[in-house]
Amino acid sequence: MTRLITLATIALLLSCNTKNEYKMETRSIFPKGVELPKEWFTGNTFIFPLVSKDKNNEFSAGVVTFEPKARTLWHTHPKGQVLIVIEGEGLYQEKGYPARYIRQGDVVNISEDTEHWHGATANSQMAHIAITNYREEEQVTWLQPVTDDEYMKAGGQPIR
Ligand code: MN
Repeated sequence: MTRLITLATIALLLSCNTKNEYKMETRSIFPKGVELPKEWFTGNTFIFPLVSKDKNNEFSAGVVTFEPKARTLWHTHPKGQVLIVIEGEGLYQEKGYPARYIRQGDVVNISEDTEHWHGATANSQMAHIAITNYREEEQVTWLQPVTDDEYMKAGGQPIR
């Protein structure tokens, strides 16, 4: 009898779920912060710093928010970078590979000296926490912009 009730409860919960009763909260928990320089980003991007490099931490961490179509230039990190997507949908691409579609909850672990870019999709804002390691005082080398052609091709190849 207990087992039957349990099964009935599970069935009820599942049916609630399909009605989006437990819709995910998407409101950002961090402020958008200040606008980032157009020199390094295409479109409108913002930074809200979380942690600075100090005597214990050989990295900085911050929330970067990309408005739709906004993205970084192509760039590399001398000791790599970790991205944790906290809001929206975006794209991540390494040179020579198809772009990867990323969304809230995805984690990207970027190796040292790997040429790449990250940004929002054309229709969604995307915010990620970026944890960027330092090699001495360096943490990024900026390269050329991601062209509209490269960006559109990337958006046409979502991996899921
Ligand atoms: Mn990067």
